[in-house]
Amino acid sequence: MKIAIFGGSFDPVHAEHVNMVKAAQAALGTDKVIVIPAFIPPHKQDRALAAPQDRLNMAKLAFAGVKNCEVSAYELNAGGTSYTYLTLGYFKEKYPDARLYFLVGADMLKDFYTWKQPETILSLAELVACNREGEKVNFSAEQMRFFAKFRKKFLSIEYTGRDISSTKARVLAAFGEDLKPYLPFDVIDYIEANELYRIRGVKEALAYLKPSRRKHTLGVALTAAKYAAKYKLPERKVILAAALHDVAKNMPLTAPELAGFALQEEVPAPVLHQYAGAYVAEHSLGIDDEDVLNAVRYHTSGRPNMSDLEKLIFLSDMLEPGRDFKGIEKLRRALENDLNECMYLSLKHELKYLKRGGGTIYPLTFKAYEYYKGIRK
Ligand code: FE
Ligand code: FE
Repeated sequence: MKIAIFGGSFDPVHAEHVNMVKAAQAALGTDKVIVIPAFIPPHKQDRALAAPQDRLNMAKLAFAGVKNCEVSAYELNAGGTSYTYLTLGYFKEKYPDARLYFLVGADMLKDFYTWKQPETILSLAELVACNREGEKVNFSAEQMRFFAKFRKKFLSIEYTGRDISSTKARVLAAFGEDLKPYLPFDVIDYIEANELYRIRGVKEALAYLKPSRRKHTLGVALTAAKYAAKYKLPERKVILAAALHDVAKNMPLTAPELAGFALQEEVPAPVLHQYAGAYVAEHSLGIDDEDVLNAVRYHTSGRPNMSDLEKLIFLSDMLEPGRDFKGIEKLRRALENDLNECMYLSLKHELKYLKRGGGTIYPLTFKAYEYYKGIRK
């Protein structure tokens, strides 16, 4: 008997997960696939998860139509941190004569070396890396690295699927975007009925935006959310700040939301909406998180000594997928590695652009540049 084990946070489960299972069934000829939502994935403990029961229920809905596939509450019932080697040990005992496979996404392969007891995992099951068609994963290089370390090979299979991740699905859900291309219908219904992934203030902020601004704002949120875990920032705050950042962009100063809004100093027109936006967020939308308000308040100008949330919103605004300018790829690569270095490079780029265009340079932007230049290693 061949059994494939597929673990993950499934927060939420999405169409790619289902496609992966179907591809594994076809390629490996499995008799059974066991899908196991993790209690708290060891690598993602700083992220706020949907309740374990909700993730389990969604997984059951998503895989209900897949033959010879069951969803197990084993890790949820075990409680505590889920470690793959313990889970595989349990199923090996339960099915002593079975040949076990362990499915992972191709992107997880790089992390495998840092898991607890990878050798134990490989003694219990064969590792199967599932790669979405069209994605450029260099399996032969990974295979060599893997063999050098473990003296074993992993199996690889290809599947077709949409470009979706659970992080992206959470952002889309928070924004009220159409989830149909990415999630099974029953899962979408479940998310809506249980109001999962909603963030107070997001939809209210989006109601102020024109369609083109909304598209940009979604790009900012997707970019920022992608890096939230890496920079250990709470994802909900990141998504909220992104949703709010341009809330006053298209708002006339005579709007009722801006009654009482006044500035002490002269501010160039393109910078004004950051202050107006923070004002609207605080006074009309009731946002009281000072870090979130500051992320809105300085998203255009920057300032010295920004919080990580401020930096991530500033940079995501500049580097979201809808943006294009010469040198953007270098800045995007910097965002993957170091917020301060990326701030330095981005501010440098911005000042150069402002000087060339003959626009007014806002003193705070220059101070921010000097600051991030000064703290470089
Ligand atoms: Fe803006
Ligand atoms: Fe913006």
